[in-house]
Amino acid sequence: MRTKIKTKKNIQLTDEELLRFNKHILLNDIDIEGQALLKDKHVILIGLGGLGSPLAYYLASSGIGQITLVDDDIIDMTNLQRQILYSVDDIGKRKVDIAKLKMHKLNPEIIINVISERLISNSEINYFYGTDLIIDATDNFETRSLINKISIDNKVPLIMGAAIKFSGQIIVFRNDLPDQPCYNCLYENVSESDACVDSGVFAALTGVVGSMQASECIKVLLDIGERLESRLLTIDLKNNDFRIIKLNKDKQCKVCNVNK
Ligand SMILES: [Zn+2]
Repeated sequence: MRTKIKTKKNIQLTDEELLRFNKHILLNDIDIEGQALLKDKHVILIGLGGLGSPLAYYLASSGIGQITLVDDDIIDMTNLQRQILYSVDDIGKRKVDIAKLKMHKLNPEIIINVISERLISNSEINYFYGTDLIIDATDNFETRSLINKISIDNKVPLIMGAAIKFSGQIIVFRNDLPDQPCYNCLYENVSESDACVDSGVFAALTGVVGSMQASECIKVLLDIGERLESRLLTIDLKNNDFRIIKLNKDKQCKVCNVNK
């Protein structure tokens, strides 16, 4: 038995969903209409590591209707310190498969697509077409630059997060809108050697950054509150120093100025 609640866009929530999302629906900024809108959204999450773990759980628990997971990695022991999607029993298995399993245990009603391959620039299939939002939870500049370009080409908003040592960063790029700064405007001259991919990472930091990316994702999708659009939040968890830096468009940027 399913009672249909109609929204302005005629998307419907079932009785079970009204119960499941009760605490969201009680928020005036979300309400039944917002929750039904989330059910109609498709988000692509790239990277299922330390940031991707809380992201995967919160996107699923929040009721995003369709989520596509992209990661080509296999789970190993060194992941378990911060990648809370995975357990000892999962070592040796593909991250996308375990992530899908855990997310569906939490919320069986959502659609989860998995792509267990490395993102490449000349992929024959454009699985970004028609998506509502891209989340970058990867850990290297090369992939980040490629995701930025894909986001611009497909005019889809991008939420980037990064976590190294005790320091985190979160920013929303509105690549779906004209005249907005992109990832390349921020980091054009940073090389891979500056990325410290082999540095230590404080476990709880990835939880903070990933959770904030999930929060920004839902706020962008539902147009809620003040967001980190073209504003870089830097987090120093060691000293509890949180700052926001406004990002301006680089008029010389070779990536976002050629796609007019
Ligand atoms: Zn740019």
